[in-house]
Amino acid sequence: MQTTLYRWPGEGAIEYAREQLAGLTRAQAADHTPRLLKELPDDKRVKRCDYCGYPWRDDSLRNTKRTCSEECKTGIKSFQRRKQRADKALLTGKTKKRTKREENYIWWLEYPFWLSEYEMLKQSWKFEKPMDAERMAYIRGNQQLYGNGNRRKKAHKPGQEDDKAARDFNRWTIRKLRG
Ligand SMILES: [Zn+2]
Repeated sequence: MQTTLYRWPGEGAIEYAREQLAGLTRAQAADHTPRLLKELPDDKRVKRCDYCGYPWRDDSLRNTKRTCSEECKTGIKSFQRRKQRADKALLTGKTKKRTKREENYIWWLEYPFWLSEYEMLKQSWKFEKPMDAERMAYIRGNQQLYGNGNRRKKAHKPGQEDDKAARDFNRWTIRKLRG
């Protein structure tokens, strides 16, 4: 017996189920649905969607469609493409290029460590950015004023003096110059 892999039902499948269950009570429908999924009727036009796995009725002229909806068609195409890419990679022996972090950081041990100090210094700032004391005090001050979370942004009116903006700009420039 072949097991069917069900995905989210496509439009055609939903339409078919709606036709089949029309006029039934909820209990009757619940009773009827498993049978509906299990065995297909003799009707040549009713088939299983190649992608979502649910039965649907093919109303196309030549009865040659294999998926119940456009979404399922797209789904099956991207699935095939993914499979092709995977097969090709397997055959040519090409694998995804590993990042410097993956190459140099032994993260899976209890005490993770870096193989190269240079890479460690280059990478670690992205995850734990060091801040100077002034910056920390500024953040704490803002938290006391506004609470945690999103900072309240004051709209700057053009032409108006803005001490904070000037201070921010100076700090930024100094940091840039220091390198
Ligand atoms: Zn489908």
